[in-house]
Amino acid sequence: KDELIARSEQFETITRVAAGIAHEIKNPLTSIKGFLQLMMSGETSGQYGDIVFSELSRIESIVNEFMLLAKPDQEVELEKINLIDIIHYVLALFRAQCRQGGVRVTTDFDASIPDLPSDPKRLKQIFINVVKNAIEAIDGPGDLNVVGTYRSEIDCVVVCITDSGKGIESEQIKRIGEPFFTTKEKGTGLGMMVTTKFVESLGGTIQYRSKVNVGTTVVITLPVLSS
Ligand code: ADP
Ligand code: MG
Repeated sequence: KDELIARSEQFETITRVAAGIAHEIKNPLTSIKGFLQLMMSGETSGQYGDIVFSELSRIESIVNEFMLLAKPDQEVELEKINLIDIIHYVLALFRAQCRQGGVRVTTDFDASIPDLPSDPKRLKQIFINVVKNAIEAIDGPGDLNVVGTYRSEIDCVVVCITDSGKGIESEQIKRIGEPFFTTKEKGTGLGMMVTTKFVESLGGTIQYRSKVNVGTTVVITLPVLSS
């Protein structure tokens, strides 16, 4: 009987991971498709080749990352990362979508933000998931603001991603990150689960502040671990 329960739990986990892979891969696939359409229509130069290549690489790393997720104890590979570069990279991925939807994107980064030992693939995925939610919450014209500060007293970089979107009630904030918790018609409720796991695997924390019909701020704190 115990074995049956164990097997059914194992099946549940596999189902979750499979659904997660599908969810995470859909974004880069959609953008590859979009860029290929632009390329085929002949209205662009070869500049999109780079983006298509890097989006394909992202799919590759997502699959790799999910294999990591399945083995949570596996060590993260840390290298010196410029967080500002990562955030600019992620915002660039959403640039066309923001322009089309009338989302004004602003950034403000402390000059004192040091490089931090981190995993670039995980960082990209973290910010992609958060920025995507912000744009979906805005759902039309609005503002998206990303602020990065270095807090020397705790030796952490704090990134605040603020949107002027529809917000979320405090009762529901608690549930963000639960597998399959979504308030969207076509949501999967897996983005923040992966994001939370990745942030925690990097020693960081993620918090949400929100006001219905005003907007939401996602606060991500990451340790610098300077020695
Ligand atoms: P999904 O985007 O598929 O719904 P997520 O795990 O990314 O799944 O997000 C879970 C839920 O958290 C969302 O459905 C939404 O209710 C809430 N949420 C996350 N980010 C925001 C945000 N910026 N503004 C409002 N609600 C948010
Ligand atoms: Mg999401």
